[in-house]
Amino acid sequence: MTTELEIGLYIFMLAGFLGYHVITRVPPLLHTPLMSATNAIAGISLVGSLVVAGANYGTLSTALGFVAVTCSTTNVVGGFLITDRMLKMFKTTKDQASGEKHGASRRRGAAVLIVLIAAAGVYYLMRPQAGTPGAPAEGRLPTAVLQYSYIVSAALFILGLKGLSSPKYARRGMLLAACGMLLAVIGTLFHHEIVNYTWIGIGFVIGSVLGGTMGLRIPMTAVPQRTALSHSLGALAACLVGVSEYFRHAGVLDKVVMTPLGFEVVVGGLTFTGSLMAAAKLQGLLPGHPLTYRGQNVFNLGLLAVIIASLIFVVLTPGAPLVFQVMVGLALLFGFLLVLPIGAADMPVVIALLNSYGGLADASMGFVLMNKIQIITGSLDGTSGLLLSLLMCRAMNRSPMNVLFGAFGKVSAEEGAGVGGDARGNTRSIQADEVPSLLDGARSVIIVPGYGMAVAQAQHGVAELAKQLIKRGIDVKYAIHPVAGRMPGHMNVLLAEANVPYDQLFGMEQINPYFPEADLALVVGANDVTNPAARSNKNSPLYGMPILEVDRAKTIIVLKRSMRPGFAGVENELYYNEKCMMLFGDAKESLNKLFATMKS
Ligand code: NAP
Repeated sequence: MTTELEIGLYIFMLAGFLGYHVITRVPPLLHTPLMSATNAIAGISLVGSLVVAGANYGTLSTALGFVAVTCSTTNVVGGFLITDRMLKMFKTTKDQASGEKHGASRRRGAAVLIVLIAAAGVYYLMRPQAGTPGAPAEGRLPTAVLQYSYIVSAALFILGLKGLSSPKYARRGMLLAACGMLLAVIGTLFHHEIVNYTWIGIGFVIGSVLGGTMGLRIPMTAVPQRTALSHSLGALAACLVGVSEYFRHAGVLDKVVMTPLGFEVVVGGLTFTGSLMAAAKLQGLLPGHPLTYRGQNVFNLGLLAVIIASLIFVVLTPGAPLVFQVMVGLALLFGFLLVLPIGAADMPVVIALLNSYGGLADASMGFVLMNKIQIITGSLDGTSGLLLSLLMCRAMNRSPMNVLFGAFGKVSAEEGAGVGGDARGNTRSIQADEVPSLLDGARSVIIVPGYGMAVAQAQHGVAELAKQLIKRGIDVKYAIHPVAGRMPGHMNVLLAEANVPYDQLFGMEQINPYFPEADLALVVGANDVTNPAARSNKNSPLYGMPILEVDRAKTIIVLKRSMRPGFAGVENELYYNEKCMMLFGDAKESLNKLFATMKS
């Protein structure tokens, strides 16, 4: 083992522990921004891509480097913009009352610009003069300066993630992380091996346009698919840089380099296609339900074994390009096959897992290029993805193995289990124009949003209703289940978008004691997260999942379109509770009708 590798492994391990420490402090409220923030930070693979695209390594490397620069720039620009867009929406009642702080965004923009100019100026001044013996070529930065700037960038990234431990400091934290990124990228542009900036420039422009469009235009309801797409881009960048390095050396590489390189292309390749598949399923471009066939798990495991065997072969046999190419091809295929049997609703767990794989691919790239900042960010990204997927699994009371290989949702999707309800009893329905009179008599109302609110885009209606109720002196609280919706923190982002102050949002443990006192629980498109069977029915697939105890409220109104089950495909006992009334219809339309009655 070389000293460099040993140091790299220590850094990887310590960054993982540090990441765990920092990321476990991020509240569920900010889990969705956390995903896009780590995504943006993992775009540091840009520094490796820049060198490959700009150095004189040959046409193939330049072409692959160019694509990698484009992908990484898309992630950096898009990731930071959408994270900031989300964080900007999180406000307390006090913040809202005091209004927008004018000039804050302008000050942030100015700070980034100052860092940009200052970094460029410092790097320029530190460039060696012509004729200095032993110095890099004129205009190139001494390696030590670049290393110091990477250290500062790494510290800024960690401080940035630490900022996410509170919505109050989150934007400031992300600003620090963005400055760290600028510092690293500008410094790398002075890297002694970069001789041509044409393809780098084109990659920057295309990536900025794509990332900017994604970051500024994508609706909040499409955040899951955007996250999946950017994981695929990041993984593609890592995979291409690995392929470029392999062919640049004609496959003759030391085992210490070849091992992480093989890992980088395999994990990068499968993450690329797996994430693309996940994004397509979430966007509805591919069927969302699990696609299974007999012997699927055995086939997938067999394929994985062949990939691992080829990896070992290329590590032990220098110059085996054919096996290398087959290995990359199989890894790409494996990514598709891995996600095929997973239902669209399980995709968030898979996305978080793929995030973690993407981080590992980035860290491997760091080992190949011996670039410590990539090892650090890869490790942080890997830890964040793994932690989030484990948290989601715990909140759903499912094991990661069950998510990956269980083809959850297949039975319900194919057989329509639970649709229409069996003879459990009667349900009571209510019309929208009858609800205001119930609201009038209430002193405290708990709103329970779920995936249906996202589908109906009803968050603005919900927020408006809450405002009206508060004006009438009714106490309003929102109950947020950790896996309501389809992303961790999904409801928080949507409600923040509708200007709901986050101090009105209560997590599951906080809100459950309030349900028995609540005069009315208004369930807007939530289903599984309210199902009492999770508490009482040992045969239910939901048994053991912690739920929002809506059934303990004095009166319950559920807004949904039909008696169809939710993601888990099981009937909800809540709907047969005698205190429960069903307001059938699209949530947004029902709320509109309700407002109309309230006004009249
Ligand atoms: P859910 O159980 O999927 O139920 C959503 C309900 O919304 C459905 O019953 C549906 O009923 C209703 N709906 C859909 N469109 C609607 C519309 N336009 N207007 C009104 N209602 C509409 O949702 P949930 O209670 O939020 O639970 C989330 C589920 O996703 C959990 O099972 C969780 O384990 C899973 N999950 C979550 C995450 C995460 O990170 N958040 C990750 C993975 C899995 P109708 O069709 O009858 O309208």
